[in-house]
Amino acid sequence: MSETTETIFSKIIRREVPASIVYEDDLVLAFKDINPQAPVHILVIPKKPIPKLDDAEPEDSALLGHLLLTAKEVARQAGLTNGYRVVINTGADGGQSVHHLHLHVLGGRYMSWPPG
Ligand code: AMP
Repeated sequence: MSETTETIFSKIIRREVPASIVYEDDLVLAFKDINPQAPVHILVIPKKPIPKLDDAEPEDSALLGHLLLTAKEVARQAGLTNGYRVVINTGADGGQSVHHLHLHVLGGRYMSWPPG
């Protein structure tokens, strides 16, 4: 296997690597992206190390829903009342660089379309 479930995000979950955490519960963690692409750029990740969306299973349905609702909540907490974008990069062509499923919550400026 070329992918491992041990990533920098696993270390953030275990507090072995520092991060600016904005939300946490038993299932998910949200923290500020270290290289923000917008005034607000937060990552929402499951604590379960699912490498990418392709690897999610039907048993993960509730967790995936919880990730989306957490994205909504962190956007609300960040004051993104004028809208925001939620992105999941998946695999090589999707531009995924960290192989631990994550949702990008981007806001604080207008998001153009299509993305690059
Ligand atoms: P992706 O390219 O979709 O896999 O996104 C990975 C994201 O993780 C990028 O936006 C990186 O800036 C971000 N990132 C990588 N390492 C860290 C870290 N230690 N803390 C916060 N964000 C990180």
